[in-house]
Amino acid sequence: MKIAIDGPASAGKSTISKRVAQKLGFTYLDTGAMYRAVTYLCFKEQIALNDEAAIVAALAKAKISFGPMKQEGQQVFLNREDITKPIRSVKVTAAVSQVAALSKVRTALVEQQRALAAKQDIVMDGRDIGTTVLPDADVKIFMTASVATRAKRRFLENQQKGMPESLTTITKDIEARDYKDSHRQVSPLRQADDAVVVDTSNLNIEQSTRKILEIIRQ
Ligand code: C5P
Repeated sequence: MKIAIDGPASAGKSTISKRVAQKLGFTYLDTGAMYRAVTYLCFKEQIALNDEAAIVAALAKAKISFGPMKQEGQQVFLNREDITKPIRSVKVTAAVSQVAALSKVRTALVEQQRALAAKQDIVMDGRDIGTTVLPDADVKIFMTASVATRAKRRFLENQQKGMPESLTTITKDIEARDYKDSHRQVSPLRQADDAVVVDTSNLNIEQSTRKILEIIRQ
């Protein structure tokens, strides 16, 4: 079974998708972490964020892989380096949408995502899962929430992680990423025609998880 969960930045997709996957005994894949890993690779290898050919060449030589689920999210490796934390930095977060707009980067990552989905039952979250990566997914969810709710949640989450960022900075980042992600040429952030919309503005994590499980089990 394939479950696609898409939506804008900080809508709670990864927290809830992870729980849904745990309840179902399915694998969880955070595709945003893959775009973040490529962005991290650019900084590490000092590749300009608009140098598509160099990025794709570096990506072809690199291996992005996933470890066990941790408190801070799914553990992510670039080759043998644990990049779980650095891919969540302000620097990577601010740059990732630019890298994610490159069509050859998307082609390479989508291929990896589909290969993972072919092997197992999976809950995959991202921006283009229901529209592009898994157009035949068994269930498609479009998870959203108001910008104010999303910003406040991330503010509190970052505080807990010891990553203080002002509410204004977070709101601007969310708005800028949503704009870039929904206006890019290739696979823009869009609700699939057959997706079920779940607005989590007034739902907590438990309620959102339950709602999505109900939709899946219908
Ligand atoms: O989900 P997360 O916010 O970590 O994703 C980081 C960025 O990766 C998004 O803002 C978007 O630019 C990109 N992304 C994407 N397609 C996906 C998942 C993420 O373009 N399927």
